[in-house]
Amino acid sequence: MSITEWLAMGLALVLGGWALLSGPRRFGLGLTAALALLAWGLALTPLLWLGLAAVAAVLALALVWPDKRPFVWLTSAPHKARQWNRWRDVTQWLLVAAMAAAGVQYALHVWQLDSGAPTIARPDVVDAFLPIAALIQLKGLLELGLWDTHHPAGLVMLLAALGLSLTVKRAFCGWACPIGWLGERGYQLRRRLLPVNWRERLAALPNWLNRSVSVLALMLDWALRLVKYGILAWLVNLLLSGMPAMMVARYLQGLYHQAADLKMWALFTQPSAGMLVGLGVVVALALVRRNGVCRYLCPYGALMAIAGAFSPYKIRRDTALCLRDAKGMNCDKCHRACPSRIHVEVVGTVHSDECHSCQRCVAACPVKGAVSLSAPGRRWPMTPRAMVLVLIGFLFVLPLFFYAAGMWGSDTSPMMRAMLWQRLENLPLF
Ligand code: SF4
Ligand code: SF4
Repeated sequence: MSITEWLAMGLALVLGGWALLSGPRRFGLGLTAALALLAWGLALTPLLWLGLAAVAAVLALALVWPDKRPFVWLTSAPHKARQWNRWRDVTQWLLVAAMAAAGVQYALHVWQLDSGAPTIARPDVVDAFLPIAALIQLKGLLELGLWDTHHPAGLVMLLAALGLSLTVKRAFCGWACPIGWLGERGYQLRRRLLPVNWRERLAALPNWLNRSVSVLALMLDWALRLVKYGILAWLVNLLLSGMPAMMVARYLQGLYHQAADLKMWALFTQPSAGMLVGLGVVVALALVRRNGVCRYLCPYGALMAIAGAFSPYKIRRDTALCLRDAKGMNCDKCHRACPSRIHVEVVGTVHSDECHSCQRCVAACPVKGAVSLSAPGRRWPMTPRAMVLVLIGFLFVLPLFFYAAGMWGSDTSPMMRAMLWQRLENLPLF
């Protein structure tokens, strides 16, 4: 692992430790100690030792001066629903900062490739941005038992994201994805600079026109939501029928695959005209429609949605507590808070593939427990701390296991990478 990956791991451990410590004290301490010892034992490297020592120091300080912990807003107990948003913000900032740091390190690494052997290491986590390569690797693993050694971190992160979705639906999209985070910030900025209230404008239209436009918009929305599944289906079909198993084996050993991250880098840093148009569409969509890219275009989101359908955790409404059913009030705060505009206020369980488990509906509901992300029977509602720990478990602790097993780092040498960078335009596919 490179320095930025260790830093990200350290930060995640601090946040995870904090989540544990801000819960019931004994439970938190036991798990924190067990996790730290496990990680320490697994990854016998001085850098992680230092990181874990820092975590232990912070936790010890928190124990000695419980009232003087930093981030008091993270730790006040019992948890209030509005703290969901704060925990989500912190988690997203942590992941975006980690990805940005890895991006800077990667940029420096590629910059050094021009001059021969680089001294700055390549952060292997950048392989997480190679979802197509990861799908090919998955096929190689399932059909041939092959473990790719050039970009193994890509497959590890794909498995981690799939495991996360199987557990808590599209929480990857709602809590972790840096692209989704960027889209959300861009959308909020556009709304501040250029506020357009479509609902008010629609309401000002004659009734018949208003209804026709609403129906058309709904149909268009449904049609566009299928686009991401179409892209995913095209990719999967390409892998299943267009690439027989033996071709997969040859591809994974080839130079083209070894240079997959460099190809991706060049795609964005030296974009073609078509690429620029595509990027323009993506940016415009993100600015016009909240979660527009996740909702309409992202095949990764489509994959997470399919996996998420099997998750036991769903948003569930308790009609005995909900003001609407229990007291006949006209409440729809959960619906208005939802970035995907899901009508939480009229369903018992949200099955929508567009639910990102963001819990904004939970945070907005004035009645504690009326709406929750929970298992069937509204059991074991997911608290903010538990959600943070699940995320850290899948996105940080799981990769740590792979790292300890020697299944994380790429075995493509820096010299080889420099050669690939020089010949990037002329690499054979197989
Ligand atoms: S239903 Fe709730 S958890 Fe799902 S996307 Fe809407 S606000 Fe987020
Ligand atoms: S915000 Fe809460 S009380 Fe209001 S409709 Fe939604 S679940 Fe019911």
